[in-house]
Order: sequence, then structure tokens, then C-alpha cells
Amino acid sequence: MLQKIFNKFAQALELNRAQILRVQQFMTVMQEKLVMDDYSLGMEEIPIPVINEVDDEVIPMIDYRPTTFTDLLSVAYELKKSREFCEGCSCEDNCIEPEKCECQLRTLTNTNNKSAISGYKNNLLLEKIFTGIYECNKNCKCKKLCPNRVTQQGIKVPLQIFKTFEAGWGARALCDIPKGTFISTYTGRMITNEHFSGLPKLLQRIRSNPEDVKQSLRYVAFLGDLVKNSKIPVSPIFYVDASTSGNIGRIFNHSCDPNMFAQYVFVDTHDIRLPNLVFFAKRHIPSGEELCWDYGYKPGNPNMNTECKCGSTKCRGKLF
Ligand SMILES: [Zn+2]
Ligand SMILES: [Zn+2]
Ligand SMILES: [Zn+2]
Repeated sequence: MLQKIFNKFAQALELNRAQILRVQQFMTVMQEKLVMDDYSLGMEEIPIPVINEVDDEVIPMIDYRPTTFTDLLSVAYELKKSREFCEGCSCEDNCIEPEKCECQLRTLTNTNNKSAISGYKNNLLLEKIFTGIYECNKNCKCKKLCPNRVTQQGIKVPLQIFKTFEAGWGARALCDIPKGTFISTYTGRMITNEHFSGLPKLLQRIRSNPEDVKQSLRYVAFLGDLVKNSKIPVSPIFYVDASTSGNIGRIFNHSCDPNMFAQYVFVDTHDIRLPNLVFFAKRHIPSGEELCWDYGYKPGNPNMNTECKCGSTKCRGKLF
């Protein structure tokens, strides 16, 4: 099983022999501590093993979802409308010329930083694009392997979930990840600000412990950053709630000096309220290093009283 998983990783990443040996060694050592073969239960193309070297805790099971979903009627209605609002490109060359591809041009024309890196280069995104990335979509003429379809291909890098000493469960890379590599999307149930304001109460009813409720709120990711900068009034505001359903995105811990950055990517709609929240490697990440992103909580908020344990020299002290 492990060998099979490993071959897939090596192939996807074109590892050299020294790297292959390191990952193999790493995975063999971990085998004894393996508590679950695959957190995704077969729903990702490559399995995500779970190990616990710290104690006997079993990882809480969730309803695993490789993509964000909606089961709330009002949200489903908004989504249906917004999906019609998605133009494709007319490329006949599988989008190899970015300056001729309408989708890639959309990414470029939306950013203010025209001279900078404007999108994917060889499947890598070296810098965050604050205005979002527009990937090719179902209305485009290109095929599945066009260079402007990166995050929609799903998780390709070998990841592992493990119990950390300080911060509960976390995730790490099983082999070196080059800077700019797509790691994973943050998935879960799509909700709006309407549901969000009622969420603490709802959770309170389901769970009796207020501390549990606070913990669940940490799993709600905000999609509205682009809306804030928009001149047109846009509502509702959307969130991804991964408290009970989601993917490995919900496992990544916070760091005040993270090795991943969060990027908004548009895949099946161009509605600025509805990007996907996606993680890329901010720098070269050596195998075994915990994968973290900045949850973005602003210092000075009096409601924040959970201590941050990221341990970085840039630590802001509070987490949420
Ligand atoms: Zn194109
Ligand atoms: Zn396209
Ligand atoms: Zn394309």
C-alpha cells in the first residue's frame, strides 16, 4: 500500500533518487504509528495517512469532502445563479500562450501589479495575487491539462496528518515541496453571513461545551475579502464551514510566520463573492515540516483570548 502511494507521489513530483530515498525512509519509520490509512477515505487521488506518536487519541471523523458543497437552499440558489456568470476562453492551443488566453488575461487585468508574476508558471504560483486567479472552466475550449487548470486537479503532493505536541492535529509534507506548489483547497459546507450569525447558537445546541463551540468557529473560513474592496454592493457574504465536513484544509494549523499562503481562485464561477480558498507553498518546504497558514486574526481584538503557540519569532501572541 505505502509503496503504491509513494510511486504516485514520486511520479507527480518528478523526484530525484536522493529525495525518493528520504521519503521512503520517512514513511517506513511512520508505519508503526499509523492510525488511519487515508483520512480522505479514498476521495482524493492520493491517500492522506494519519499517524499519532504522542498519545492514544483517535482523529475525530468528519464527513470528508474534496470540494465545497451546499445543502442549504438559499445558498444553493445563489450558487446556481452565479455559476451562469462564468465566461470561458476561445483558445485552440490548449492555453499555452497566456497573452492570448482570455482566462489568464482576466487574472492579469484584475491585478494592479501588471509587471509582476501574473499567474501560474509551470504549475507554480510564486506570489499571492490579491485580486484572485481565474482558472479555465467548463466553458473553455481547452482540455483538462491546460496550464491554467491547477487547483481543480486536486491534491497531488504527499501529505500526512499527525498529532502535534502543542496544537492538536496538524499536517505535514512527506517530501520537499517547491515554492509555489499548490497544496490543497479549503473545503466544507458553503454558508452565508445569515447562517454564520446563527452558527454559535446552533452549535451550542448541538454541543453542550462552550469551548467546543469556540473550537468549531475556528473552522469557518471567510470568502469575502474581494467583496470588501469592491465598489458594487454585494451580499450575501459567503463562508466555508468545515466544522463537521471538509478536507485536509481544516487540519492545517495557524502560524504567525507560515510556510503556505492562502489564495482566492475562481474555478466554476466568476462571482467575486465565491472564490475557492486555496493554499500554495510560500517558500521551499522541506519534508516533515508542519504546513501552516496565517488565519489572519488581527492583533488587539479584545474577543481573542486563545493563545497562539506557533513558536515563531514573529508570533503575535493571540490566535482567535
Ligand atoms: Zn485559454
Ligand atoms: Zn480558459
Ligand atoms: Zn485553458
